[in-house]
Amino acid sequence: MKRVETLAVASEITPLVKTGGLADVAGALPAALKAEGVETRTLIPGYASVLAALGHARSLFDLGAFFGGPARLLGASAAELDLFVLDAPHLYVREGGPYAGSDGADYPDNALRFAALARAASSIAQGLLPNYRPDILHAHDWQTALAAAYLRYSGEPRPATVFTIHNLAFQGKFPKSILPALGLPAHSFAIDGVEFYGGVGFLKAGLQFSDRITTVSPSYAAEIMTPESGMGLDGLLRARASDVVGILNGVDERIWNPASDARIAARYDPSSLALRAKNKTELQQRFGLRADPRSFLIGVVSRLSWQKGLDLLLEALPEVVGRNCQLALLGAGDKPLEQGFTEAARKNPGEVGVKIGFDEDIAHLMQAGADVILVPSRFEPCGLTQLYALRYGAAPVVARVGGLRDTIIDANEMALRAGVATGFTFSPVTVDEFVATLHRARKLFADKEQWRQLQGNGMKTDVSWRHPARRYAELYRGLLAARAAPGAP
Ligand code: ADP
Repeated sequence: MKRVETLAVASEITPLVKTGGLADVAGALPAALKAEGVETRTLIPGYASVLAALGHARSLFDLGAFFGGPARLLGASAAELDLFVLDAPHLYVREGGPYAGSDGADYPDNALRFAALARAASSIAQGLLPNYRPDILHAHDWQTALAAAYLRYSGEPRPATVFTIHNLAFQGKFPKSILPALGLPAHSFAIDGVEFYGGVGFLKAGLQFSDRITTVSPSYAAEIMTPESGMGLDGLLRARASDVVGILNGVDERIWNPASDARIAARYDPSSLALRAKNKTELQQRFGLRADPRSFLIGVVSRLSWQKGLDLLLEALPEVVGRNCQLALLGAGDKPLEQGFTEAARKNPGEVGVKIGFDEDIAHLMQAGADVILVPSRFEPCGLTQLYALRYGAAPVVARVGGLRDTIIDANEMALRAGVATGFTFSPVTVDEFVATLHRARKLFADKEQWRQLQGNGMKTDVSWRHPARRYAELYRGLLAARAAPGAP
């Protein structure tokens, strides 16, 4: 098996910097790919938190004045990851998160911040650093999508490119006036270039110029080619359909494993499921909920945004909680939702517990202690929380869309009889369907034997990265073979 060298580029990576699933994927895929003969190095921005976590970093290349300030490339290893870090303090060392300040507003120079990342990736891919020449440049999401455009408008050599859509809703669309600052030629502003509805579209450019496009589930791959879910990019995606593939995400079992997870109150596996009760008690306590092992505990770990459908939960709350049904919610995002849930907790003491913020430890405890994990998304490219739920014996209750549809087997009559159900799915995403499905889950919860079977099915589902990593490796090798074939462009 020929070894493949991949340069990945991502704007976040677990465990160094994370706002969502993208970080978990970027952090887990390299180790899984190693088993498939693929070596990965990942380029990330030098946010303050990243620089602080690195400890030992080697300076590899001085980029001089780069997108408005001094910059250099560092090489480092952290958490079993081989990293390149774009150290450019004027772009990345900020008060606040990777994309927005502490007031929640996007940084005004995000176009430049991420164009710089993409430019650095394309330069490394073309041989900027001595002794490093990757076969593949694999870029993730809009923040890195311009890398393929930089390659397209520069000379040889041009490595093969793969672009992964983790969420089509985040498109990186900026006014035309930024074009000169990006260092792309004027003629790139064209329908078959970086132009997108009169502005510059980073994600669009990635879709236009990458050799292969992947997204994180087969159903989402199909959905984004429709006008309803294509967010203005369905036409381009349809035109490139033969290069688009859906590959499900996996779970990093070094981090998400109830048998070894140091973040939870009691560790367990399918043979010691009874120990899970300790985590439920701990969760109830941490969220100020009435301590009761028999209550039906609904858990949510989520960004609070329209996509995630949690406004439906807020609306349905009076019908859902009380009468031995509790809610524990961990999330942050849209202010009206944050306020709505905080208010709901105040009104329902002991029954609704809410923590606003981002907390990795509590996210793990939630998976280990809740009876169900609720994911009522309006759209969901893959979704990781429901995969963690399977792994931890919490039954996922999910909308039947995108990756949720592809990963959860609904506990309908036949699936129960066949002994294959792993959770509950509903469609369409409406309050009525949602409430009915929660009631259905609650009814099954009362049947201890059926419930244990459901938990067991989830826990033995293979949600590891083994299979997805093989698919990526095949994709890389297929792409390299196609390029090497006689007559290839
Ligand atoms: P998305 O990337 O759209 O936010 P995913 O389900 O793919 O959704 O991934 C979400 C990831 O972020 C999971 O690892 C989840 O545990 C984590 N997460 C989301 N919200 C929080 C939070 N408030 N605190 C801790 N972890 C969170």
